[in-house]
Amino acid sequence: MTILGDLYARAMRAFSAESKRQAAENERMGGLVAAAAKEKQDDNLTIQSLRQEVVAVRQVMEAMEQQLADLKALRGPAVASLLPPYHSIEHFRWAILTGYGFNAQAISILASFPLVVKDLASEQGGGLTYHDHVELNGITHEAALHELSHVIHERDWGLLEASPKKDAIDAYLEQYARLAAENDPRYAEAAAFARLQLHGDGAAFPGILALKDWDHAFVSLASWCMNSYKTGPRSLPEYMWTYFERFSTGELLVTPYYMIGGIH
Ligand SMILES: [Zn+2]
Repeated sequence: MTILGDLYARAMRAFSAESKRQAAENERMGGLVAAAAKEKQDDNLTIQSLRQEVVAVRQVMEAMEQQLADLKALRGPAVASLLPPYHSIEHFRWAILTGYGFNAQAISILASFPLVVKDLASEQGGGLTYHDHVELNGITHEAALHELSHVIHERDWGLLEASPKKDAIDAYLEQYARLAAENDPRYAEAAAFARLQLHGDGAAFPGILALKDWDHAFVSLASWCMNSYKTGPRSLPEYMWTYFERFSTGELLVTPYYMIGGIH
């Protein structure tokens, strides 16, 4: 082999090695580019699916907002139907039971308890609870709540003084006395009412302690706050709630008259 031939062979070998190296490098670079492209594609897919999720969530939220708006629109006429005029005693009963947060247990008792309303057009208060029916003079809500509270109360621990009902009455009176002595300004109205109820007005009304009128220790407080024992100007401290939670959620659909200056 000539020197030139040798050089040529070596050059060719070097060229071949370089070509292979280049090819390998190209392949490696191609792989990197493809991987980067794939990653980018994955990112795009992720972004796309996130975008779809956002759209889906937005659609759900819009649907919920619409439902809420529908409910609010319904609430107006629904609440209006809880207020006078009442076309029947059952309409009036339904309005009271629905409007004043009576719970399922109380409704199961009161929905079928015989109720007489002497005049569905009258706003005269007052009424009486007999052992087998309630009689109201008119459609005053406070009067209805008072008499219906008697019914609920008598089903529970109101009438008898024998133990353990005696214990229940004593426990309640203890809490009532605590309410009368309450100095938290949030419950000032309730405390004043409890003092008047317990000890009387110093004139015609001697108070329930003197009268031993344990029924009204509970019933009068119930109709005074009109089941709004959690919120509002006649709300009660939490240690009294347990006696009201037995029959009412405390969440009203109507506004008691004493908050709006009405008559019911
Ligand atoms: Zn009474």
